[in-house]
Amino acid sequence: MPETAVENWTQISHLKEHVGEEVTLKGWLYNKRSKGKITFLQVRDGSGLVQAVAVKSELPDASWQAAESLTQESSCIVTGVVRADERAPSGVELTVTSVEVVDIPSEEYPISLKEHGTDFLMSHRHLWIRSRRPHAILKIRSTIEHAMHEFFEKREFIRFDTPILTPAACEGTTTLFETDYFGDPAFLAQSGQLYLEAGAMAFGNVYCFGPTFRAEKSKTRRHLMEFWMVEAEMAYADLWQNIQVQEDFVRHVVGRVLEKNRADLALLERDVAPLEKTVAQGFPRITYDEAVERLSSAGSDIKWGEDFGNDDEDILANQFETPFFVTHYPTAIKAFYMQPDPNRPEVALCADMLAPEGYGEIIGGSQRICDYDLFLERMQQHDLDPAAYGWYLDLRKYGSVPHSGFGLGIERAIRWICRLDHIRETIPFPRLLTRIYP
Ligand code: ATP
Ligand code: MG
Repeated sequence: MPETAVENWTQISHLKEHVGEEVTLKGWLYNKRSKGKITFLQVRDGSGLVQAVAVKSELPDASWQAAESLTQESSCIVTGVVRADERAPSGVELTVTSVEVVDIPSEEYPISLKEHGTDFLMSHRHLWIRSRRPHAILKIRSTIEHAMHEFFEKREFIRFDTPILTPAACEGTTTLFETDYFGDPAFLAQSGQLYLEAGAMAFGNVYCFGPTFRAEKSKTRRHLMEFWMVEAEMAYADLWQNIQVQEDFVRHVVGRVLEKNRADLALLERDVAPLEKTVAQGFPRITYDEAVERLSSAGSDIKWGEDFGNDDEDILANQFETPFFVTHYPTAIKAFYMQPDPNRPEVALCADMLAPEGYGEIIGGSQRICDYDLFLERMQQHDLDPAAYGWYLDLRKYGSVPHSGFGLGIERAIRWICRLDHIRETIPFPRLLTRIYP
């Protein structure tokens, strides 16, 4: 029995280890088919789905009645003998010896196994997550989160939790969620970065993982109002070391998904070839200059100095088979804390990682300005009040060192790894421009 399983019953995901034995499952009825004196129960328990065959002549009357009474999403306890079955997706089937009802829904379950509109499903998200597709996506999400922590732990990064209620902006003032902090304004964190930099000066290599909030006022398929970001910050690391860690990180995470979630990827009909290439190959690196040339050749009207629109990112992202980096964006369009290239100050020592197959940016990262005077100058150019950032300026006053870091939006990564059309499916309860329910 796996350490995680609760004793007295068996998880469907472990049935294969119990062929020939009698086991008890605790779960819910996913679907049912009756053929006179035989009933085929599809039972799910969160870990998997299995077919349990109930035969009237072989069951106590009460169990047969119980099997007959089950409706979609009735909770039930089913005991039976595990049989190997090549044809079954789970590889096994159960011959039922007893059925016990826990709860029968008093109303018909609202999500039938037929098609529903997205809005209906989103309004029933609390129930929809029991269905196979969202279930597969959210299992992949869990693998990704475990894999992230595993990567950083192996590399001896310190996990450093950053605050969610903050006194000032990190990523531009137009997307701030403001709240009242006992009479003073406070803002929900857009990123943990600034605090993580303090952590890097104290611990060397640090990372954080937490929810971040941005009031994105336009409707896109890649922006949420509340999303989870994993961020790392490394003292003494330069742009290229930063990029290497990101590449290793993404390859590790994708590798774990390929190890653990093959069946989920298959359910989503995800072609795994690009994921396998991602694990096997290094990621290409192009400069912003080269990206602008590629875009112009592909018909975009982008001019040097402009930020990429979603369409531009899509064009670029369709030209690669694995994630890739775009480095050295114009300093003017990037965040105030990014280090300008000393040889060419109009571009910054920064890089975004873009996902292939048209998915676009999943990581933003850079070397940070470490010179006090240059920092002050940049803050003035960005109309930021130095008084509000006194503590952050201190990091440039007391033993400042070159340092770099990055942030990966995990929903963006999931959207690409699962190849989903819209980011709303990557998180249990998405917060969208027009939706905060349920
Ligand atoms: P974009 O240009 O796509 O809005 P950004 O430049 O604002 O992204 P960063 O500030 O660099 O993004 O944030 C780091 C990462 O956080 C991004 O690479 C992306 O993966 C993720 N991210 C940013 N905004 C959102 C959002 N609204 N919803 C989901 N993920 C996001
Ligand atoms: Mg943005």
